Amino acid sequence: MPPPVDKGQGTGWSRLNAALMPDYTPQAITFWWLMVGLGGGVLSACAVWLLQQPWTVALQMAVGLALAVGSGLFPVRVPGTKHSFAVGEVFIFLVLLMIGPAAAALVAAGETGLGAFRTSRRWTSRLVTPAISGLSIWSSGSLLQWTLVRLEAAGGASAAAVAAAMMAFAALYFVVNAVLLAGLQRLKRGEPWFRLVAPVVALRWVGMAYAGSAALATLLYVTYRQQGSGVLWVMVPLLAMLLVTLHFYFRQQEVHEALRDASSSAAAREAVLMLRETEATERHLKALQASEYRFHSAFTHASIGMALLDLDGSLLQVNAALARLLGRSAAELQRCRVQDCVLADDRAALEGQLAATRHAGFEGFALELRCQHLDGGTVWMALHCGFFTEPGADTARLILQAQDVSARRRAEAGLQHMAFHDSLTGLPNRRRFVECLAGVVARQQTDGSRPWAVMFLDFDRFKIVNDSLGHTVGDALLQQVARRVQERLRPGDTVARLGGDEFAILVDHIEGERDALVLADRLLDALKQPFMLGDVELIASASIGITFSTQGYTTAEAVLRDADIAMYKAKAAGKARYAVFDASLHAAVTERLRLEGDLRHAIERGELRVEYQPVFALGAADAIAPGTLSGFEALVRWQHPQDGRLLPAAFLHLAEDSGLMLGLSDFVLQQACQQVRQWQLADAAHAGLGLAVNISAHDLGSPALVARVSRALSLSGLQPQHLTLELTENILMSHIEAALGALTALRQLGVKLAVDDFGTGYSSLAHLSQLPIDSLKIDRSFVSQLQRNPADAAVVSAIIQLGGTLHKTVVAEGIETAAQMDQLRQLGCGFGQGFHLATPLSAAQASAWLHDTGGARH
Ligand code: C2E
Ligand code: CA
Ligand code: CA
Repeated sequence: MPPPVDKGQGTGWSRLNAALMPDYTPQAITFWWLMVGLGGGVLSACAVWLLQQPWTVALQMAVGLALAVGSGLFPVRVPGTKHSFAVGEVFIFLVLLMIGPAAAALVAAGETGLGAFRTSRRWTSRLVTPAISGLSIWSSGSLLQWTLVRLEAAGGASAAAVAAAMMAFAALYFVVNAVLLAGLQRLKRGEPWFRLVAPVVALRWVGMAYAGSAALATLLYVTYRQQGSGVLWVMVPLLAMLLVTLHFYFRQQEVHEALRDASSSAAAREAVLMLRETEATERHLKALQASEYRFHSAFTHASIGMALLDLDGSLLQVNAALARLLGRSAAELQRCRVQDCVLADDRAALEGQLAATRHAGFEGFALELRCQHLDGGTVWMALHCGFFTEPGADTARLILQAQDVSARRRAEAGLQHMAFHDSLTGLPNRRRFVECLAGVVARQQTDGSRPWAVMFLDFDRFKIVNDSLGHTVGDALLQQVARRVQERLRPGDTVARLGGDEFAILVDHIEGERDALVLADRLLDALKQPFMLGDVELIASASIGITFSTQGYTTAEAVLRDADIAMYKAKAAGKARYAVFDASLHAAVTERLRLEGDLRHAIERGELRVEYQPVFALGAADAIAPGTLSGFEALVRWQHPQDGRLLPAAFLHLAEDSGLMLGLSDFVLQQACQQVRQWQLADAAHAGLGLAVNISAHDLGSPALVARVSRALSLSGLQPQHLTLELTENILMSHIEAALGALTALRQLGVKLAVDDFGTGYSSLAHLSQLPIDSLKIDRSFVSQLQRNPADAAVVSAIIQLGGTLHKTVVAEGIETAAQMDQLRQLGCGFGQGFHLATPLSAAQASAWLHDTGGARH
């Protein structure tokens, strides 16, 4: 069956209801319309009736209405209750008795309508309230009128009968009015309308007021019937005055009561205080509950791990974050102690801090340690712990916050590793090694029972590998070396890469020196095995220097230094071997270091001197008379403040090693050039004096050599052709490629070049013929053997012939005897120098000699 179709009008009706009474149930809406309809009808009928009455009736009604409304402004409080009553009803009831139910209905509707207009904004109540009161008073009033008419007809209504009827009316009016009003409220709320007893009972005070009003109205009405209307003009104002007086009297009573309350007894005050205190406690409790709630939710939802624990570490409560960090459930954690979650190594630190919590003055601790994750991994945790007082608890608790700092720790460990390890081999670096070494050195000083050894290992020809095969191969070699060395050590030993191809090994806890020597042999052996570097098979070797803790070291640096010295001893002894450090080595090195330090200041302190050894013409080969002075060789000396006059052999190698060589060469070059130039200028006979200056391998490699030489020449004014630079055969031949350019440039400058110590090196004749060389200096060793060894004599003869063939001057060095000189002369050697002719002379001695002899050999 299709639902009934709603046709237009129904929609408008429901829309009107929805607009007027959106909060009403359908029953309430029906009831409302019923009341408004019935009330409206009744009041309209009353109005029609009123129009037919003389104007005095309307005037009386108007006065009644005014009085009813006016008395509503002065409600009288019922003492001791919240209720008050207005006596407006008195005048409505009076109108009812005097004029009839129609007039009373209009006045009542008027009075309640005005009241509703004032108190409510809704038209539904503004309409229904007067409708209901009009309807109730009209219906019950009509019944009263009917009764009174009957009473009159039955022989006159006595005052008592009127009063009784009036009381009955008041009761009926109250019930009808209350039932209709409360019924509407019930329906509005969707409650069954018949449950009206309670709301009607609640209005009983209104009922009492009605009864009182009815009595008063009856009194006035009866008096009016006997005395005429005049009495009303007196009574009504009196009544109004009484009401106003009562109103204000009760108002004053209320104020007095309030004042009395305020100044009540101490006990009452105390009671009030207690009440306030109770209230405060309640408030406090509520606040506490709120804060506890907040704490609890902060604890539970915190993103960092949190736990409550006993002073012994038992976990009482943990949050989800902590459970997550440790990979366990909260319930599981709450059964154990916090120490149980920590790695065994770190447990003692935590136990210590927990024990400290029992001491006075404990304020908390912060600790970083490793915890055991259930998956087997470790988590670095930053723990912060402090006291926690739980409300109501008498034992102290701890609150713990835990944060995962594993990432930071890993980064730190990485940095630490980088700072203390060599990136190529992964071995500890020098810094780390020195730290370890410092530890055992310190230990040795207090406890000599566990001796140790340190080895310094250096590759024998690593530079060649690097230069010829490239750095990649060099790096691969070092990695393999590191591995081989590491494999042969015991667990407690430490190997470090100090840099380049240098490794250091700390051999801890040796029984005796033999242990270390056996290990050194094993290492040398291991490193002699061929290395496979890509396709290249490489045979290498290393030299090892060893020193022992029995030397009584106080610093790690000293240990390394001595092992290094021993390593140099091993190299000097032929490489691929080990050498043990001993004190004599130490003395030599100390001496060397001392001299090296002194040498740094030798030039500036004017301790270097130049001596001049005369060089003479031996024969007539170069058209110079035999025995004629041809020039001087400059030889450096060091006048050491403590050690006295030192020869070059004592300090030249130091100058080479410590980078002082160029300064020394410049000094000799400038000094000698000036000196010889002075001698040239002093005597015209010496204007062609030559000067030979020795230069080192360093000088030859110096890009500024030409500039330095020309500077010495220009400073002194010496002509280039008077200067010969001497280079040993070894230096020249090992740097031949690099030297060629420099030598050519020097040649262009006009300077002459000589090969010193000729015959000791391995000059190839091809080179010799190509090099821009002016002279050859036959090494002293051949000259000294000239008489004794025919082979040496043959060499000297060959050199002299070679010089002749290549058009180079030949100088013989170290001529110590007349026989040697004679033989050299016979062999055709052009020039010679040596103690037999003249020893090296100081500048002053040479000047005096030149002055006295004119440079003639005596
Ligand atoms: P050298 O260039 O072969 O110098 C000759 C060395 O033989 C000098 O030794 C000289 O004193 C020494 N001598 C000269 N005649 C005789 C002799 O009859 N018998 C013996 N036994 N020795 C004789 P000194 O002065 O000790 O110089 C040694 C070496 O030091 C020089 O050998 C030279 O290579 C180097 N040297 C000297 N002065 C300098 C310098 O100023 N610069 C550079 N770079 N090297 C220098
Ligand atoms: Ca020389
Ligand atoms: Ca020489």
